[in-house]
Order: sequence, then structure tokens, then C-alpha cells
Amino acid sequence: MSRTAIVLGAGMVGTCAALHLAFRGWSVTLVDRREPGRETSYGNAGIIQREAVEPYAFARDTATLLRVAFKRGADVHYHLRALPRLALHLAGYWRNSGPSRYPALARAYGSLIAHSVAEHAPLIDQAQARDLVSEQGYRFVFRNEASLARAAANAERLHASHGLRHAVLDGDALAAAEPALRLRMAGAIHWLDAWSVSDPGELVERYAALFAARGGRLARGDAASLQAQGSGWRVATDQGMLQAEHVVVALGPWSDALLRPLGYRLPLFVKRGYHRHYRGAQGPRLPLYDVDRGLVLAPMKRGVRVTTGAEFAHLDAPATPVQMRKAQALARELLDLPEPVEHEPWLGARPCTADMNPVIGPAPRHRGLWFNFGHAHQGFTLGPASGRLLAELMSGQQPLVDPMPYSALRFGA
Ligand SMILES: Cc1cc2nc3c(=O)[nH]c(=O)nc-3n(C[C@H](O)[C@H](O)[C@H](O)COP(=O)(O)OP(=O)(O)OC[C@H]3O[C@@H](n4cnc5c(N)ncnc54)[C@H](O)[C@@H]3O)c2cc1C
Repeated sequence: MSRTAIVLGAGMVGTCAALHLAFRGWSVTLVDRREPGRETSYGNAGIIQREAVEPYAFARDTATLLRVAFKRGADVHYHLRALPRLALHLAGYWRNSGPSRYPALARAYGSLIAHSVAEHAPLIDQAQARDLVSEQGYRFVFRNEASLARAAANAERLHASHGLRHAVLDGDALAAAEPALRLRMAGAIHWLDAWSVSDPGELVERYAALFAARGGRLARGDAASLQAQGSGWRVATDQGMLQAEHVVVALGPWSDALLRPLGYRLPLFVKRGYHRHYRGAQGPRLPLYDVDRGLVLAPMKRGVRVTTGAEFAHLDAPATPVQMRKAQALARELLDLPEPVEHEPWLGARPCTADMNPVIGPAPRHRGLWFNFGHAHQGFTLGPASGRLLAELMSGQQPLVDPMPYSALRFGA
């Protein structure tokens, strides 16, 4: 008889975990309160960031810290009233970004992201989603010669350590490659191993359709109805009360809300982000990350999607689209962007952990409960590799990478 699992959360992460369990013969139901891929996995910049082998560290240089503290840039914003509750996690994030801890954490992160494109590729093929995907990479663009030179040296270091392919473009080469740019830039780093997606939410939908085609079931339900029952678990859904031996928590930024009542206190927090689309003029050929200002401009089905950096705030606090306003002005320096498509910017939240690595593996104190969340800035990239790793652990198979760095035990949970 096949083993049974309920996966809670049909974002990129949960959908891929459900798919990988189905591939391994499990009987799986994927439960969400919405359609698959409608939350964080919908609103991101759509880049499969193979080059992101080192996670976003807490800035430690005084100039950046002052700029952030005084809310001068577009890259980081914060709600003052959120800071007391965030303080402990941010202190951990700060410590983990320091020279004594960061290198090992980055090695762990890099070992999983190394599989990102290779794990997306077969799913994209099986889901018949090639029409959504560009394999042409994306560009870090620079307004400033000094930051381009620093980034070029860093790219060279990552090439030597991780084999990441890139090309450095000077201002002329960038202007030729991206004719829509109206500002003369210092140049760009073109990351050649990354892929990009013109509708991230639709890619998740196609993966969910593939899951259904492989015998998986989709149901609507509230994860908060989860209860232990005998040696398994049950959840109320539109298809009635579902029961399974195993349950996977893949609720992205909402994972913490489910785990607290079960007694888990993990250092989870969110970095919120906004986007808006602009239609009507020529967009970039490839996604552009304006590194000196902290925004991304990605060509998407709905128009050019401008995404913002990190906002430290409570998950449910009202939107404060200050960064979106700044990002719109900065984006208009780069491209001719007519009026936005949406009245209000989209708001989402990157599910983060204090040590920048996701949580993947068994819950320490509940049999049959599994974790798969906390993929922060790169959950869209990491979903398939992370889902495979979790399914291997649940199936007792040789794991793709060493799972220890992702265990909840590292937080003394
Ligand atoms: C502005 C921005 C840009 C980004 N750009 C990129 C990028 O270019 N590349 C990249 O790799 N990553 C990017 N990210 C990060 C990426 O989007 C996230 O890491 C990823 O989407 C997280 O996926 P997830 O499946 O864990 O969460 P989600 O996609 O949020 O999925 C969680 C699911 O849980 C469901 N859910 C929640 N609560 C309940 C409940 N009580 N009952 C039932 N269901 C529930 C939700 O409906 C949702 O479908 C970006 C993020 C932002 C905000």
C-alpha cells in the first residue's frame, strides 16, 4: 500500500514537495486555501537564480547601515513598531552574517542552489512549460564604475569557487544588449547560468497540473484545521476531512503561525516586497537587477514587473508602499515605463530564517510531521531541489545533498 501525505501550502515549495512525493509512489493531497502559486510564488521576480550561491547577508558596513537606518535608499525599509518583536531574530541574522559563521552557512546554501536549474529543467519539460522560460540568464546592472568593478571581482571569485559563468559588459555593450535602457550605465554582469520565467505563478500552476496528472489530488482547506490523529494527521478541506500518515508544512511566510501552537519557536521572520507591472513601451530583453538602487525590472507576460527590496514589518501589517514609489521613480530613470497596470502594488513576504538557510526535514518532536519552508530570497529557485530533498528524506532514500544544515534541530527546536 502506498504511503500517504498531506502537503500544506501550494506555493513553489509545497507544490514541488508534493510532486516529488508523487514521483516516488506516495498518495499525496496538496492543500491550500487558494489556487496553487497565488501568493509569494506568484509575485516574485521570476528568476531561477543559479548564481545565488551565497545568501543575502545582513549588511555590516557603516555606510549601508546608516542609509538603511535613515530610510534613504529604495532597497530596505522597515516599520519601527515591528522592530521589538524582530529584534532577537535580526540579532541572530546579524551574528550569522559575520565572518565566523557566514562561510559555512553559505556553503550549505550553495550546495542546494547548485541543483536549482538542473531540478527545474525536467519539471519544466514534463509540465510543458518551456514557453514560460528563458535560459538566457539575467543582468546585474550598475550605475557606478566602482560598484561594477567590485561586482566583477566578486563574479570572478564565484567563477573560481563555484564555476559560475558570467560576462562583464561595459556601458557600450550593455546599451547594445538592452536598447530600451535610456540611462547610460557603467555596465553589467550577465549571469549566464540563471533562467527566468515570464509568469512565476503560472509555472507553479503548471507544476500543480503535472502533480494532478501523476495522480496527486488538490484540495482547498485551511491548514489551521490540522490535528494529530492516532499515528497520523487530519485536515479539514472542501473534500471533507483528509487523513494521512504524514503532513508537510510548506506554508512559506505563514509556517510560523501553524508551528507555534505545536510548540515550535523557530527564528522565522519575513522580508516583505512589492511589485507593479508597466505596459506599453519597450521593456528589457532580460531581467535587470539595478544593484546600486536595489530593484529588479523583469519582462513578464503582464508587462515589465518592477520588484522592490526588503521591508522589515509584521506579515499582516498594512501595506506601506514607500519602496514601490521610490522603485518606480528609479525604474523610470532606466526605462520608459508608462502608467502601471495595477491600481495598488502587489505585496508579498519572503519567508526568512535567522541563518539564511531553509528548514527542510522532520519535525523534531512530532512523528509524521515534516518541514519545508524558509527559502527567503530564492524559494522560487529552490523549490524543486528542496522538494526533492524532502521527498528523499521522507522516503528513506539517499539525499541529494547533506540535509543536516537544514534540520530544525539546528535552532534547538
Ligand atoms: C518581491 C519579491 C521578489 C522575489 N524574487 C525572487 C526571484 O526572482 N527568485 C526566487 O527564487 N525567489 C524570489 N523571491 C522569493 C520567493 O518568491 C519565495 O521564496 C517563494 O515564493 C516562497 O515559496 P513558498 O512556496 O515557500 O511560499 P508561498 O508561495 O507563499 O506559498 C505558501 C502557500 O501557503 C498557503 N497558505 C498560507 N496559509 C495557509 C493556510 N492557513 N491554509 C492553507 N493554505 C495556506 C498560501 O496560500 C500559499 O499558496 C522573491 C520574493 C519577493 C517578495
